Amino acid sequence: MKQEEIGLRVRRIKHGTVIDHIAAGQALNVLRILGITDRSNEVVSVVMNVSDRKKDIVKIEDRELKPEEVDKIALISPDATINIIRDYEVVAKHRVILPSQIEGVVRCMNPNCITNTDEPVRPRFVIHRNDAVELHCVYCGRVISERIADFLI
Ligand SMILES: [Zn+2]
Repeated sequence: MKQEEIGLRVRRIKHGTVIDHIAAGQALNVLRILGITDRSNEVVSVVMNVSDRKKDIVKIEDRELKPEEVDKIALISPDATINIIRDYEVVAKHRVILPSQIEGVVRCMNPNCITNTDEPVRPRFVIHRNDAVELHCVYCGRVISERIADFLI
């Protein structure tokens, strides 16, 4: 597919954020991480499985994502890029940065972990990236390395 055809499929936005190079199939999980639901007011375009690149794209109009929001995206799509658009121009472009720790974003898969009991303990993970992203629970040591999106809070 040529670049113009992709452009036709997703129109340019005037202001907002374009998240590109999302791992194929993860666009809806990106929306989940950003807290965008059917009750949100943002105008959002999603393109999944862009044919010759096997990547997803998300465009969010009139909202500039903050670093702490975009870095969560790295959990499920560490190669994603963030483009901030103002007046149809890209004014900032950067890759997501995988944080070294994350708190309150993902729940532990261990049902006996203190973070899954009635104790008011927020789940916290140390993050490693080998080939894949790995989350190590700081409380029980359980490692999540697959289907991280399934454990999003
Ligand atoms: Zn745990």
